[in-house]
Order: sequence, then C-alpha cells, then structure tokens
Amino acid sequence: MIIAGNVLALGGFSSNLLALWTLQGKPIRWGPPALIVVATTFFACWFTLADPNTAGLRAGTSAAAFALSAMLAREMLFQFKGGGRAHMLGGGLAVLICLITLARAVSALRGDPLALGALALDWDERVFFVVSYIVATMSALNFAMLSNDAFNGELRRMASSDPLTGLPNRRCLVERGADEARRARRYRRPLAVAVIDLDHFKAVNDAFGHAAGDEALLETARVCRTALRDVDLFARLGGEEFVALLPETGPAEALAAAERLRAAIALIGVAASDRRLTASVGVACLQDGESFDFLLARADEAMYRAKKAGRNRVCVADAERVAADQ
Ligand code: GH3
Ligand code: MG
Ligand code: MG
Repeated sequence: MIIAGNVLALGGFSSNLLALWTLQGKPIRWGPPALIVVATTFFACWFTLADPNTAGLRAGTSAAAFALSAMLAREMLFQFKGGGRAHMLGGGLAVLICLITLARAVSALRGDPLALGALALDWDERVFFVVSYIVATMSALNFAMLSNDAFNGELRRMASSDPLTGLPNRRCLVERGADEARRARRYRRPLAVAVIDLDHFKAVNDAFGHAAGDEALLETARVCRTALRDVDLFARLGGEEFVALLPETGPAEALAAAERLRAAIALIGVAASDRRLTASVGVACLQDGESFDFLLARADEAMYRAKKAGRNRVCVADAERVAADQ
C-alpha cells in the first residue's frame, strides 16, 4: 500500500507536468519525471521492504515530490506563455507543495524514527496528507481554468485575424484605427491610412486558379508587412483589399510609404509565370475632428480614383494633395 501510494502520488505530479507541456505546445521531455518516479519506487521499496525506515521513506519521497513541484512551479510562474491568471494560481499551488514537502523531509530527518504502522497517527503526516489532497483537487480545477484561458485566447485570436493570411482583420483594424484616431486628435499628431486593392484580381483567379490567387494574397501580405514599420498595422479588409494604418505619419511620408507598397506588390509574380500583380492605392491623412471611418472612406475614394486613372498607381485624398505637394 505504501509503495503503491507513493508511486501513484508522484505519477500524479508527473502527469501535471506532462499535461502542462502539452497545453503549452512544448515537446514532452519524459526523462526527468520518469527518473523521479523510478527513484520514488526505489525509495519506497527499499525503505519499506529491504531496510524498513520511515525517516528515509518520508525524506526520499518528499525530495522526489519537491523536485517535481519545483519544475511545475518554474513552468507555471516563469515560463508560461499565454493570457489569464490561472497559471499564477497553479504556480502558487506548486510552491505550496514545495514548502510542505520540504517541511516533511526536515521533520522526517529531525524527529524520532516512527514505526511503519505509526505513520498514520503522526500529526505531521496527517497535515501533510490533508493539504496534499486539497492541493491535488485544486490542481485539477486549475487545469480546467488553464484550458479555459487557452480557449479564450484562441477565440480572441480568431475574432481579430484573417484565417488565410494571419493578418489583422477588418474588426481589428476598425478598433485599432479608432484608438489611433482618438490619440492623434487628442495629442494633435499625424495619422495616415492607405487602402490597397489588387488590380484585376478576378482575372488572376480565372487564369491561374483560386489556389494561385491565395498564394498571391499571402505573398502580398508578407511583402507589405516587411515594407512597413513595426508600429504600422497592416490588415486585410476582405477579398483582395488591404489597409495600412500609419501612426505618426504626415502626408509626404504617407505618400512615400504607399508608393513603397505599390512598388513592392508590382514585383510579386503569379504562379511562376511572367504575370506580375499590381495594386491601386489611396492615401488619406486625418483631418481636424475627423473619425476613423471618414478617414478610411476618403482613402477608399482616393483608391477608386487610382483605379479610374489606369491602376497600378497611388492617389491621395483631396485634402492631402496640397499638403503632400508642399
Ligand atoms: P479591380 O482592378 O477593379 O479591383 O478588379 P478585381 O478583379 O480585382 O476586382 P473584383 O472586385 O471584380 O474582384 C475581386 C476578386 O478577388 C474576386 C474574387 O474571386 C477574388 N478574391 C476575393 N477573396 C479571395 C480569396 O480569399 N482568395 C482568392 N484566390 N481570390 C479572392
Ligand atoms: Mg481588385
Ligand atoms: Mg476590391
């Protein structure tokens, strides 16, 4: 019973660690937990069958539980990737187990040796087991909370990004754009947007197939993201339309950035053919008291002018023409 109890308890701790690695998408390292469980089996067998000694049994199994809990605490508190607070609770519980296993080992080595049969009557042992049961139950609940945090994180990611390109989607753009417009108005800072629409994209799909079209969209996302600064947001508005949100960017720099995007897209080949993509781009800069929706609408209107003017070009919204020329 004693051997089985200790091995099962340590097996339980190990499962916690393996479950955490799985949840975090980390590779499973069987070595350390397996070694600890094997060592526990050895201690438990040795100190109950070969050389009955409760001090050795308690100290050995406590040291093994301490090692596993310390690994769990390190993972939960310092190496956890993801949102939510559940991992802090898990880490706290692991630290608690570290403390009580340490106290148990010290009490075993310092106190008078107990007979095997007297273990169940010892108060240190009773407290240790009651706390262990409570922590084990809370750990199980904690894993449900951790899974819930992971699920919520995934939902948030799905709600704000485009599944094909992984770029922020329209919803994310509108939220971030409204925030940036508020900030720019308040501190009187410049803010620009560029609306980018790929030219004759339907013809690309018709000529090369939808998969090649998807590939071209992915390449557009990659190339444009590379051409922008980290602080800029590059979003897929839908279909073959993209938007660059450019904080702290005045008319002349916005025009230069839009031209850079147009030129980068014009180098993208379609399906290993001679065909190159092109894009029409409209640029607008935030006016006094203007909302993000209006700013985007003016950039869109400029983009349609670029289409009408022959495509593969950049047009600026009316109000910026003068400013950009200065
Ligand atoms: P224009 O130069 O006037 O913009 O012409 P266009 O053909 O680009 O514009 P239109 O709005 O007529 O067609 C857009 C095309 O974009 C139609 C649609 O098949 C294609 N498209 C939209 N979303 C996707 C997508 O996710 N993948 C692929 N492969 N094609 C898409
Ligand atoms: Mg188009
Ligand atoms: Mg379009």
